[in-house]
Amino acid sequence: MNILKIIGDYHTHTVYSHGKGTIEDNLKAAINMELHYIGISDHGPNHVLYGLKREKYSTMRREVDLLNKKYNYYGTKLLLGVEANVIGFDGTIDVTDEDRVYLDYILLGYHYLIKMCTIEDYYLWFVRNQIDQSFYCSKKFKDITTKALIKAMERYPILAITHPGAKVNIDIDELAKAAKINNVALEINEKNHELSIEGLSKLADTDNLFLLSSDAHRSIDVGQVSNAINRVEIAGIDPVRIMNFR
Ligand SMILES: [Zn+2]
Ligand SMILES: [Zn+2]
Repeated sequence: MNILKIIGDYHTHTVYSHGKGTIEDNLKAAINMELHYIGISDHGPNHVLYGLKREKYSTMRREVDLLNKKYNYYGTKLLLGVEANVIGFDGTIDVTDEDRVYLDYILLGYHYLIKMCTIEDYYLWFVRNQIDQSFYCSKKFKDITTKALIKAMERYPILAITHPGAKVNIDIDELAKAAKINNVALEINEKNHELSIEGLSKLADTDNLFLLSSDAHRSIDVGQVSNAINRVEIAGIDPVRIMNFR
């Protein structure tokens, strides 16, 4: 039984991408857990299989605003975000200026099956990354992937990098330094093993901020972060550095 508790969960999915529940289902689950806020962060539009349809942002915004009115009494604030994708190694992400009008925040992560910007980006992501992950991890490629995330942090107002190091090898020390400078949190994800205990231990003495997330794809999983909390405790991360702890 964890003593530490989160007050909000910024990383949850709904039927707008490949979650099982509706926005309202996730909100009701968050109310039951007495969270102060709950964020909807469906996959960005360039995810080939699970990306939300760009034209749905306005519908989602209206839905979120209406639900905030409907459930105002319960005191759990509903937010609209996105789990954006890196679509170019120059740091481009799949959130446009027009999209941002509808959003309260942006999470960013590497994902598979993404529509990339250029042929070179496709090569790096679909060929070079697979070689790198399957056979050997080259420092040069690790630097390229880390730089892509750093450039994105410099170009966009990113709240947190989701599951850093999952699906791609990155230089966590360099990423953490840039995250600190750009005021971006590093996510400790309930379902993805990155950040791992080992990775977190390396960051125990930095002053990076962290975000704990359920990455819930079913409303029953909203706010559930017990694995992530165990990793925080074992790695010796000071709870004051977790932006969504009570
Ligand atoms: Zn993800
Ligand atoms: Zn996710």
